[in-house]
Amino acid sequence: MVNPSRIFLDNAATTPLDPEVLATMTQVMADTYGNPSSIHAEGRKARSLIEAARKTVANALNCSIGEIFFTSGGTEANNMALKNAVRDLGVKRIISSPLEHHCVLHSLEAIRATGAVEIEMVAIDEKGHVDLADLERRLASDDRKTLVSLMHANNEIGNLLPLKEVAKLCGDAGALFHCDTVQTMGYYPIDLAATRVSFVSGSAHKFYGPKGVGFVYINSDNIVGPFVDGGAQERNMRGGTENIYGIVGLAKALQRAVEQREVRMSHMHELKAYFMEQLRSRYPEVTFNGDPEQGHAKVLSVSFPQSPKGDLLLMNLDLNGISASGGSACSSGIDVGSHVVGHLYPDSPRHTIRFSFSHHNTRGEVDAVVERLGGML
Ligand code: PLP
Repeated sequence: MVNPSRIFLDNAATTPLDPEVLATMTQVMADTYGNPSSIHAEGRKARSLIEAARKTVANALNCSIGEIFFTSGGTEANNMALKNAVRDLGVKRIISSPLEHHCVLHSLEAIRATGAVEIEMVAIDEKGHVDLADLERRLASDDRKTLVSLMHANNEIGNLLPLKEVAKLCGDAGALFHCDTVQTMGYYPIDLAATRVSFVSGSAHKFYGPKGVGFVYINSDNIVGPFVDGGAQERNMRGGTENIYGIVGLAKALQRAVEQREVRMSHMHELKAYFMEQLRSRYPEVTFNGDPEQGHAKVLSVSFPQSPKGDLLLMNLDLNGISASGGSACSSGIDVGSHVVGHLYPDSPRHTIRFSFSHHNTRGEVDAVVERLGGML
């Protein structure tokens, strides 16, 4: 599945489809054509596949099947959580962070434009962590109904949020808590029976599943109405005939990610540490954005010093068979710039490349990248 002539280090953007997931999906595509809403045998067969997939997801998160709603991906899941919470749960204030994914930040802008809520941004420390004391102060300072929206792992720098601690702070303050878990789903254990979170989100293509399918968990204490008006699909939350093949693929991919979590994670941790060590010894002027020792095993945001070739770094990597992502503080050349790196290192002339790993990557690939970088800096 992975093109052997290239080195794919952009697994935070997306991951290649797991061949076993593909096999499961193609089998269902060949065999199952019923509409899950039909009551005849073909329909019931399709429905049973969707409900089995829901059960797999609920088991992985230790929650009830009635709390999982399939969506078109992480963007829709986050839109649904935020917009429905404001519309249906009496939220008057949202506390979020400037480092969230655009699907959260742009949803918040749209919500702000309605005038329904006030939006505050929590302080971020110099390593890109949420300042928990500031969050606690903000939660205590106002008794209006509050929703906190903070991501579990930052997709650009990899920093991890202490999920349990934030859930407790929100719970103690009576605030709702939405956590964008798109980058950690299938990578880090999330036990929703033990951790009080109101909403989490998942996206299959981040854990070796298909693109265009995801889910939102909505804690059953929160009764919200439809996000997409139409038929009664997804218990009235999202009208429209379900993406059966995507949903089945999502569940299979999540199940495999959970089963293989330890092996995959230890491989990625090892690879990331090795990459950091090799970069440090070969290019002492290289630094790392965020807090890589603490962060997600799959993400390494590397900061290269300003140089005449720097603007072309991402393109040169591509030409040399290496796929990675840009995201410097300021936009330049083919790099559109990053609000995350820009927030942490305003106006920095340095060049950021995000390398992100999968369990398919090898030490040999890391060695090749370190070697080939020599001609590009
Ligand atoms: N949230 C985070 C943290 C992400 O990294 C992404 C994908 O880049 C999303 C949300 C959006 O997910 P999707 O691509 O499924 O819409």
